[in-house]
Amino acid sequence: MSGELLGDTVHTALLARILDGRLGPGTSLSVPALAAELGVSRSPVRDSVQRLVAEGIAVSTPHAGARVATVTAEDLSEVFRVREVLDGLAAAEATERVDREGLTRLAELVDAEEAALAETPEPARDAGLDLEFHAAMRELSGNATLADTLRRLEVRAHLSGAGLWAEQRHRELAVDEHRRILAAVEAGDVAAARLAASAHVAAIGVRLRRAQLTLA
Ligand SMILES: [Zn+2]
Repeated sequence: MSGELLGDTVHTALLARILDGRLGPGTSLSVPALAAELGVSRSPVRDSVQRLVAEGIAVSTPHAGARVATVTAEDLSEVFRVREVLDGLAAAEATERVDREGLTRLAELVDAEEAALAETPEPARDAGLDLEFHAAMRELSGNATLADTLRRLEVRAHLSGAGLWAEQRHRELAVDEHRRILAAVEAGDVAAARLAASAHVAAIGVRLRRAQLTLA
């Protein structure tokens, strides 16, 4: 495997562990331990940890190494309020410029999420499917500034949301909401796509707050 490819594979593996809660908020990101666990040398792990720090997903303290960032309820509320607007914008811009190929891709992603509903929840896979749908939508917007901002916000939004993906009800609602966004994009209804995408993010925010209240 080339160095770059290995680097991406390691980064994807670490991100998956963070997103599904195996490396929860505040967990130490020990380069030697993670390298041993993944069966790779330390260098790609070190690079990945630096990338996570640069993206605000991990925080680094001198002499103490890096830890997965902790997200307070207030951080999360801020992130969701911004995403509500920006996810709406991404869906609106995607609706304006999507082609047949893009629509097929979105439909396939929602179908994959729906197919996964019949299986036992797997937070890493389910959060990954959700991220893929949102990644496709922001790419289809063709707005690089928007896509980059959303990508950073999204991972922060997922940081403390791992628990939600273990709930069947949340998974079903997320697929319904994605279907509604897709229908508006397919219909070429810019306003409806914006509304459906904003409503989806707002609804996740509410479910997340309820889940945290239940846990607290
Ligand atoms: Zn979603």
